Amino acid sequence: MKNIIILGSTGSIGKNALDIIRKFKEEFNLLGISANKNIGLLLEQVEEFKPKFTCVVSEREGKIFKDITAERGLSTKLLLGEKGLLDLVSIDQVDIVLVAIVGFAGFLPTYKALKMGKRVALANKESLVSGGELISKLKSGEIIPVDSEHSAIFQCLRGESIEKVERLILTASGGPFFRKGVEKFGEITVNDALNHPKWNMGAKITVDSSTMMNKGLEVIEAHYLFGVSPEKIDVVIHPQSVVHSMVEFVDGSIISQLGITDMKIPIGYALFYPERETLGFTRLDLFEVSPLEFFPPDFGKFPCLKLAFDSLKEGGTSPIVLNSANEVAVESFLKEEIGFMDIPIVIEETLNKFEKGEVRSVDDIVYVHRMAEKISMDIVQKFRKRV
Ligand code: MG
Repeated sequence: MKNIIILGSTGSIGKNALDIIRKFKEEFNLLGISANKNIGLLLEQVEEFKPKFTCVVSEREGKIFKDITAERGLSTKLLLGEKGLLDLVSIDQVDIVLVAIVGFAGFLPTYKALKMGKRVALANKESLVSGGELISKLKSGEIIPVDSEHSAIFQCLRGESIEKVERLILTASGGPFFRKGVEKFGEITVNDALNHPKWNMGAKITVDSSTMMNKGLEVIEAHYLFGVSPEKIDVVIHPQSVVHSMVEFVDGSIISQLGITDMKIPIGYALFYPERETLGFTRLDLFEVSPLEFFPPDFGKFPCLKLAFDSLKEGGTSPIVLNSANEVAVESFLKEEIGFMDIPIVIEETLNKFEKGEVRSVDDIVYVHRMAEKISMDIVQKFRKRV
């Protein structure tokens, strides 16, 4: 029996993971869960799974949660705030931490869990984008990627030597605007961007997919996860989203992993690793998904993808700034404060304004993140006045 903690249990990945745990009650003990604000669903999960620990990140919702659990006679130890997340991942008995939080908020808990020697099933790409310099140098803990592309590459690399890798090929669906003319990008609304053709995910990652920043962040994630240089990472548009990614080796062989677009497969892989389990979900019908197409990405149409590659090559503080500015820009776009085409402009201006430097400590990373957030918020203000 493995003791598992899910950070972000009310989000899309969290709910999928609970479906697996529900099905494999003998294999996993859900020791703790966390949510930011969605205490309605969190309470349902506490009633069903009876975790020993529950963390509510928002202190205000935490107090309400506490009153309701007392009323209903639910016994779960309540932890509060971002510190609560760190306490949760530090519990001795914890074997696996599934980090399914969105954004930079996932960095400190991921770092702490690895420091404590835990297995981290990582669905939070932002923690590697911002903290990759430090995380990749850690000697303790292990990361099993949950991001579907990285799970694919991880599987393709099993039993292989990283020195024999010619390139990593990350596939991208292209998002909802792959076939849309760039001259119409000015008309894109929040609803358009939230309408992903292949994957059903949370709002932030869905907008990231529509700008292709999601793929940019994944390139950076792949670099730190597998230790492959940026020149050896390529992005290929594959609208069918059947091939989840590929690895080309020095002999010319390309190994790929295919599957349906259901996050339960990479989540299950990370939770059961190194075993494979019969998950019992729909299987891929090769005849139904045929033909499979591949196209080169259009960096002019999707400047976010280029910004991500450039900031990775630049290194140091640049990926952190890229990620922070993107988080601010996407949130502002979702609030309809800026337009779709403003997203890459906010990011580029933030990158230009930020004085580049090296990253030596966790404090450096948090500081750079906060500073970049502030700079990009100022830039957003400028855009808001224009509207
Ligand atoms: Mg992905």
